[in-house]
Amino acid sequence: MKQSATFIPTLRETPADAEVKSHQLLLRAGFIRQNTSGIYSFLPLGKRVLDKVEKIIREEMENAGSVEVFLPAMQQAELWQETGRWYSYGDELMRLKDRNGREFALGATHEEVITDLLRDEIKSYKKLPLNLYQIQSKFRDEKRPRFGLLRGREFLMKDAYSFHSTTESLDETYDVMMQAYKNIFTRLGLDFRMVIADSGAIGGKDNHEFMVLSDIGEDTIAYSDTSSYAANIEMAQVNIEYSVPDITAEEMEKVETPDQKKIAEVAEFFGTDAENCIKTLVFKADEEFVVVLSRGDHEVNDVKVKHATDAKVVEMATPEEVKELIGCEIGSIGPVALPENIRVIADNAVKTIVNGIAGANEPGYHYKNVTPEQDFQVEKYADLRFIKEGDPSPDGQGTIRFAEGIEVGHIFKLGTRYSEDMKATILNDQGRAVPYIMGCYGIGVSRVVAAVAEQFNDDDGFTWPAVAAPYDVHVVPVNMKDDVQRETAAEIYTLLKSKRFEVLMDDRNERAGVKFADADLIGLPVRITVGKKAADGILEVKIRSTGETFEWKQEELLEQLEQVFQN
Ligand code: ATP
Ligand code: MG
Repeated sequence: MKQSATFIPTLRETPADAEVKSHQLLLRAGFIRQNTSGIYSFLPLGKRVLDKVEKIIREEMENAGSVEVFLPAMQQAELWQETGRWYSYGDELMRLKDRNGREFALGATHEEVITDLLRDEIKSYKKLPLNLYQIQSKFRDEKRPRFGLLRGREFLMKDAYSFHSTTESLDETYDVMMQAYKNIFTRLGLDFRMVIADSGAIGGKDNHEFMVLSDIGEDTIAYSDTSSYAANIEMAQVNIEYSVPDITAEEMEKVETPDQKKIAEVAEFFGTDAENCIKTLVFKADEEFVVVLSRGDHEVNDVKVKHATDAKVVEMATPEEVKELIGCEIGSIGPVALPENIRVIADNAVKTIVNGIAGANEPGYHYKNVTPEQDFQVEKYADLRFIKEGDPSPDGQGTIRFAEGIEVGHIFKLGTRYSEDMKATILNDQGRAVPYIMGCYGIGVSRVVAAVAEQFNDDDGFTWPAVAAPYDVHVVPVNMKDDVQRETAAEIYTLLKSKRFEVLMDDRNERAGVKFADADLIGLPVRITVGKKAADGILEVKIRSTGETFEWKQEELLEQLEQVFQN
């Protein structure tokens, strides 16, 4: 492609609203443009990267036995009503009406649509397993679209759905898909980890996320420093046997604490540590209020609260709700003498507290010498807190460390979560109607583009790996007015194209400095500069990722290039 004939609007300045490297560079190098918040156009270079990523995904999906389809983005509300997600998905679902007032959603995901499609067509176990995928725009009205392609409101997803008559068959496909995902992210050169995950709004059992390690990742991964254990921090179990220390419980005492609200202030006032303080929170689990206790040095994990209470939705109670329920401000609440009808659950570590400190449900006061069971009752102890760095790994091997990750893929065993609600059944080998057993498998295709962009760059621009680069080679004639340079460049361009290299040629009448800066910014793997030495048959070559430069004789160009792209 000749640069004069395509559209690569590079920018000198970093756009002020782009916070992360990938977003800044995708804008600056002219790969994407924002239309409005969370909605982007892919320009020619961006589209080529997208195509490369899609190609790898398609190859690995087909290898794994998944077959491509293309489902509608516009989905009738009735389908989402059948599974209840019309009501539970919330504001993230983009809803619209047709001219007759019939309600629709723009696809945020496609479980309903595909289950509906198959339930009318597949009635016998003999037609299963079946694994279908598509690559398509998804729509989610994210609360905080940000970081460019990383969290969009319209974005590209590869979503696959598998259908089975037995759980063994699902397990088998799940493992094959897991391997396909590993292949995809490995081929893209991404530094990733597979982690144990929570299934969120989609629902279901076994599931894993694929995280690209990156400081700007929104997810925290808890991993063992010695074993292969890794989990999303939301899901990482705390597997510690706590024992009650052998200390005599003393009598509880109310103490005036006029200025101490935060745990750290309270601990200091009493001359003790945060781990000896009881943190008291109030959650709303579906419609019921639940008091959740943890040690002062621990953070409560709402996903675990959700599991422990068997609730569909868990959120913190508002200050007004707490006031009405307990009669005091959030900062003063504690577990002692709560109103009778409130459930109290506690993290396992609370058992270790003897003679602890807790709020007195009265502004300006705390209790000291508070001991569970003696001074307040706990309905249930459970694992309710976030794991911490330094905790033992739940698999019993090594110590937990944290890393930040960008979630690029997610695989779930859905079981019969959708097929039951939607009455999607097959006749099994005993002639009995049973719901399909399903799996689903997502990759954020446009997010992957951003994740690759985030990992492969330096101060001057992108350093694309060959598999994802928009072109292989950048041919840059320094001076287009020089006949030798212009003609040599044209010759190389034609030659390389005929040998199936993907070539971008900077045939613009720009200054050398501008051309080189743009070439570094765009970041193709190899730059071939056709300058003054072209008259002597010498080309200057720069390998973008390492910064190495070489002089190659024109006649050895092909041979040298083949070597570079072999590695
Ligand atoms: P997140 O926790 O980041 O919101 P999710 O759990 O909602 O992701 P899934 O429903 O599992 O995501 O979707 C499958 C994949 O689609 C994710 O692994 C992610 O790579 C991608 N994805 C999800 N939401 C977005 C978004 N708003 N923009 C870009 N990609 C996204
Ligand atoms: Mg989401």
